[in-house]
Amino acid sequence: MICPKIIAGDSMNPIATKVAVIGAGISGAVCASNLAKNGISVTVFESARGPGGRMSRRREITEDGRELYFDHGAPCFSTTNTEVEDMIKVWEARGLIAEWKQNFGSFDYITKQFVNIEKEGLNKKYVGIPGMNSICRALCSDPGIESKYGVTVGSLEWSENKDLWSLKDKDGHDLGQFNGVVASDKSTFSQRFTQVSGKPPPLDLSLTPGLADIVKEVPVRPCFALMLAFENPLSSVRYPFISLCFISFPT
Ligand SMILES: Cc1cc2nc3c(=O)[nH]c(=O)nc-3n(C[C@H](O)[C@H](O)[C@H](O)COP(=O)(O)OP(=O)(O)OC[C@H]3O[C@@H](n4cnc5c(N)ncnc54)[C@H](O)[C@@H]3O)c2cc1C
Repeated sequence: MICPKIIAGDSMNPIATKVAVIGAGISGAVCASNLAKNGISVTVFESARGPGGRMSRRREITEDGRELYFDHGAPCFSTTNTEVEDMIKVWEARGLIAEWKQNFGSFDYITKQFVNIEKEGLNKKYVGIPGMNSICRALCSDPGIESKYGVTVGSLEWSENKDLWSLKDKDGHDLGQFNGVVASDKSTFSQRFTQVSGKPPPLDLSLTPGLADIVKEVPVRPCFALMLAFENPLSSVRYPFISLCFISFPT
């Protein structure tokens, strides 16, 4: 959704100076950081209280006052993409991530056994330091980026004569005007936005039938995240990272 004027510029002479990025998950954060590095002034809007999206970290306090932290989205990540490997090197140098060198296991409900999934040839895994949201938090604070949390973009309107996008929040308050907009989340134009907010999605896809066809093909699969804390360390479990495998659950 970046207007053609941005694409026409180059990294030394960007024509568009102001871009709004909707969403402070990893895709929005990486995009915002790259735009800012190319001299574009970026404003990130994020519905949640902080950055991370599906790489968020949650803090809970137990009844006796102890702090618990849960990376309740992606617990780690790996890659085979060379561009992402380059980014990983930079994030490691910035102290935002570290390689997770522990054994990884999977618990099979049927056989009731732990299986070492590392033997299956998976790649190096990385975790955020101190939590998975650290990457998004740092990228959204890069120079040239203003990040606004707790702000849901509710409408996007393109003004042909001004060559600008006008953004409003979900209550109709003005969020400013931008040369370009990057929507990092499908809910910006899907019915999910209506299910959550009771309002029409910010972008009317009927105005862009080509994009609508592509978006319809993007699958969305809901999942539950279980956040468990144990009184004592589970020293009898050989794998600090366990995925629970219900694939062969009897029907
Ligand atoms: C339980 C779980 C486990 C996972 N495990 C792994 C794993 O092991 N390895 C791996 O690589 N991946 C894993 N993933 C997937 C990975 O977390 C996601 O693919 C990735 O984080 C998605 O990033 P994103 O930026 O595309 O989207 P998101 O993180 O969803 O970011 C989109 C953001 O946009 C915001 N937003 C949406 N609409 C608006 C609006 N109108 N206004 C303002 N803000 C808006 C949302 O609040 C959200 O923060 C896991 C995901 C989950 C849920």
